[in-house]
Amino acid sequence: MSTATLSIDLDAIRANWRALNEKTSGETGAVVKANAYGLGAGFVAKALLKEGVQTFFVAVAEEGVVVRKSLGNASTIYIFGGHMQGDTELIREYRLTPLLNSVDQLIRHVETLPHHPFGIQLDTGMNRLGMEPVEWHAVRELALPLNPKLIMSHLACADDPDHDMNVKQLAEFHKMTDDLDIPKSLSATGGILLGSDYHFDLTRPGVGLYGGFPFEQARAVAKVNIPIIQTREVDVGETVGYSNTWRAPTPRRIATVSAGYADGIIRAMGGKTALYAGDVACPIVGRISMDLIGVDVTLLTQPVESLELLNDRQTIDVLAENAGTIGYEILTSLGGRYQRRYLGDMG
Ligand SMILES: *Cc1c(COP(=O)(O)O)cnc(C)c1O
Repeated sequence: MSTATLSIDLDAIRANWRALNEKTSGETGAVVKANAYGLGAGFVAKALLKEGVQTFFVAVAEEGVVVRKSLGNASTIYIFGGHMQGDTELIREYRLTPLLNSVDQLIRHVETLPHHPFGIQLDTGMNRLGMEPVEWHAVRELALPLNPKLIMSHLACADDPDHDMNVKQLAEFHKMTDDLDIPKSLSATGGILLGSDYHFDLTRPGVGLYGGFPFEQARAVAKVNIPIIQTREVDVGETVGYSNTWRAPTPRRIATVSAGYADGIIRAMGGKTALYAGDVACPIVGRISMDLIGVDVTLLTQPVESLELLNDRQTIDVLAENAGTIGYEILTSLGGRYQRRYLGDMG
């Protein structure tokens, strides 16, 4: 088999959740949108349920269905995207809780599912989702008697603790919600790390659970191991891969491994990234192709069958830096071709 393996350490995800949970006195939920950042929403949600997580968040109703099927009926599953046309049956049947983002969504919800739980999402300055202050003022008196389960907003700059946007959004959130006796939520991973002023009743970590910045103490969760298909000796001056971008400065041994940009190994990371055999870093040489990558394994004294791309030392954040992106994009790009192995207590 030449398919690369993506190992997902569910115990590490649970440990990361516990570590974030210990930082706050309120409830800690878990964001499992985008298939739990690519790592498998069903498995991740179930492992976290066993850890005691009661509240989960997804982006869209269809993701909520997957999570509900995995969790059974005990937990709350919020939908950030709210209640869209066509969602009503899923919301009802799978007992999903939309976070209503607009007057239109509020009206749709009360007309189609009058007694079904919902939350409210407010915009405090990010201008992405949620009701703006004026809109909220216009509909508060309609919404409040319907007993919203949660009122939330989202921070735009929480991964930068010194950014003045954080205090601005915090002040706006207070202004819009202080007189309400409804559970409140403002913070994702970054907001948890900003301190207790930002915690309110419920936090919503995502990337920190999966081992990424800004939660620097997080345990690494994902490992990628890629089989070597073939190894060859190249002479001085020979080239490797498309467009001849790499030329051997001395005789080298080159391994061709079985993964590529179709597996989320972004072409742009090639020049700075190595694959590991234990502690030995073997640099990527030449262009990353769709399914194959050339690696300089000259330094290895023993033949190996596979090399690691993602591990405790070359984390998602290192790869992100190499590719000029963020850890979130590395994780969610990993894609469907990997053989997935779940390690730890499956819940
Ligand atoms: C994605 C998301 C989160 C989780 O953010 P992380 O930075 O991954 O912790 C929380 N809340 C909302 C509204 C989101 O869109």
